[in-house]
Amino acid sequence: MNQPVRLKAKAFKSSVKPIWCPGCGHFSVLNAITKAMAALAMEKDDTVLVSGIGCSSRLPAYVDSYGFHGVHGRGLAIAQGLKVARPDLTVIALGGDGDGFSIGGNHFLHACRRNVNLVYIAMDNEVYGMTKGQASPTTPMDWDHSKLTPHGPGVRPFKPAAVALAAGAPWIARAYSGNPNQMAKMIAEAIEFEGFSFIHVLSQCITYCPEQADWKSIVNERSEPALASADEAAKLFLSEDGFETGLLYRQQRQTWPPTSSIPDNQETALAKLEAKFGA
Ligand code: SF4
Ligand code: MG
Repeated sequence: MNQPVRLKAKAFKSSVKPIWCPGCGHFSVLNAITKAMAALAMEKDDTVLVSGIGCSSRLPAYVDSYGFHGVHGRGLAIAQGLKVARPDLTVIALGGDGDGFSIGGNHFLHACRRNVNLVYIAMDNEVYGMTKGQASPTTPMDWDHSKLTPHGPGVRPFKPAAVALAAGAPWIARAYSGNPNQMAKMIAEAIEFEGFSFIHVLSQCITYCPEQADWKSIVNERSEPALASADEAAKLFLSEDGFETGLLYRQQRQTWPPTSSIPDNQETALAKLEAKFGA
């Protein structure tokens, strides 16, 4: 019997060429996703990438799988609905810091507590890149590199890992666009985790935040195992500088919907619905 052909990472890239600026961190995320797909020998037809709006949300077009380029901030809502309707699919939601933590902030909170079995990759460059450099929820208070915020936004930045933990996310990791191999490993682990797995990616915007090139001297890889205690993770996330990468927190808990409430097959569910409404 013939063995199935194992595809290389580049075979998971579509024929659409990215239009990101040269040096944009999102190229690394694309590479890491396709590497993870190759490492797990994933089926293209059983994989769906769902995004919102923004530079990073263009990513589904560049992967040779199913994709859905959604509405601003609504990628997680679409991804959760899809996963609940089709639990057999691998669903990866993705987007940027403005999309995920501002416009889609409410969906982020509830996705963390709902714990649907999917992956959420937030590509954080601390700026709205596509709309030319406005401050985002993660922009440092004193960031005065843009004419749009001459004295800095003056607002405390959002701490994605701390917020995810407080809202109930069971699996929280951080990756860096300068280390695509570590990121690919994180993404593969996230896909294999049974539950909502959140990867906060430090993905530099070279055009509006060229100072982020300095991140490579600040990021450090976590050497200890992931924390399993929410108390300890809270202490870490509220006190850290936000540049430690790796799997930071992991705790298995009940996913939603509970397995017992998933219909055996969607046709039965549809037939029941139709009967109820007299169709
Ligand atoms: Fe990437 Fe920034 Fe260019 Fe957008 S504006 S493609 S985030 S470098
Ligand atoms: Mg951004």
